[in-house]
Amino acid sequence: MTATCTFCGVVFEFWHGQGPRRLYCSPRCRYAARDAKRFLPIGSTVTAVCANCGQAFAYVSTTKRRKFCLDCRPRKEALK
Ligand SMILES: [Zn+2]
Ligand SMILES: [Zn+2]
Repeated sequence: MTATCTFCGVVFEFWHGQGPRRLYCSPRCRYAARDAKRFLPIGSTVTAVCANCGQAFAYVSTTKRRKFCLDCRPRKEALK
C-alpha cells in the first residue's frame, strides 16, 4: 500500500499490519509535524480566524497562538 506523508508530501510504501494508518513517511516527519503544530516561528505573521466573531485577522506570532481578534480578545477585567 502507499500513502502520502502529511508533512513532506512524499509518497511512501507501507505494509498493512504495521499499526494504525500511517500519516508520515518517517519518524522525523512525525516529530517535525508535531512540533510545527505546537510551536510557531516567533515573529512571523500568522493569519487566523477569530473564534468569537469569525473574522479573519493577522498577527505577529509569539509563543502562543491567538484565538481571538483584537476586538474580541478577552480583557483582563472581564475574566475576574
Ligand atoms: Zn515525510
Ligand atoms: Zn473577533
